[in-house]
Amino acid sequence: MKLLEGKVALITGASRGIGKGIAESFARSGASVAFTYLSSPEKGMALEEELKSMGVKAKGYRSDAGDFKAADELVTAVCADFGTIDILVNNAGITRDALLMRMSEQAWDEVINANLKSVFNLCKAVQKPMLKQRKGSIINLSSVVGIKGNAGQSNYAASKAGIIGFTKSVALELGSRNIRSNAIAPGFIETEMTAALDEKTVQGWRDAIPLKRGGTAEDVANLAVFLASDLSAYITGQVINVCGGMLT
Ligand code: NAP
Repeated sequence: MKLLEGKVALITGASRGIGKGIAESFARSGASVAFTYLSSPEKGMALEEELKSMGVKAKGYRSDAGDFKAADELVTAVCADFGTIDILVNNAGITRDALLMRMSEQAWDEVINANLKSVFNLCKAVQKPMLKQRKGSIINLSSVVGIKGNAGQSNYAASKAGIIGFTKSVALELGSRNIRSNAIAPGFIETEMTAALDEKTVQGWRDAIPLKRGGTAEDVANLAVFLASDLSAYITGQVINVCGGMLT
């Protein structure tokens, strides 16, 4: 039997990058996969077909994770289509980098809304089906930047640090109902989000990482599969770094 067989997962922001890697790994592990996208409907539809061709039930939904009402409607729709939700992966995220001196209020609000409020929105909505079935695994994508800070990313770092406090609090609140809540803190993972950076800077980062490479979406997805599965049944309230030793 595959690790996630019989489980239903909801992943936010899976049209590309880490979210897409997690959706593919979950499907390979036998999970039914519901996922969201926002500005890339074609990529969302292509992923739905790809996952279905892997022999699992899959459906993409266009939904803004930062919108409270939309998140609630999404969870209702997923439960209607799939029966329940066993695993929630809060992956949707954006960057609007600038030094504090130049950071606009809009850049602050957009990042906090898409990265942090989204986690509240989805957890709030998904706790209903998870409480009902008295089990669930919530996995939130934080970042090493949320642990250590980063010049030029005060909005992003604050959102990712906020996710850590939220994740631990939810673990304390819902542990007695067998609902687990953990955070993944990736280091430098090479996706479209990081492709926008200049090559010289990127090579400098690779050289500074003990494992001498940027991570892949699959490196992060492997941990997500473990945290989603019953192999991690006694693990909750934790932040696990996937950073090639960068934060050591
Ligand atoms: P990415 O390539 O930019 O992909 C982001 C995904 O999030 C896209 O699928 C996008 O969908 C979706 N999204 C953005 N805002 C959304 C919203 N409001 N509602 C629903 N979906 C939304 O990013 P990534 O590099 O894979 O990163 C994924 C997560 O890991 C993020 O939370 C990021 O902060 C975190 N992380 C990444 C790294 C890294 O090095 N890459 C490091 C640490 C943490 P559309 O394209 O359809 O809009």
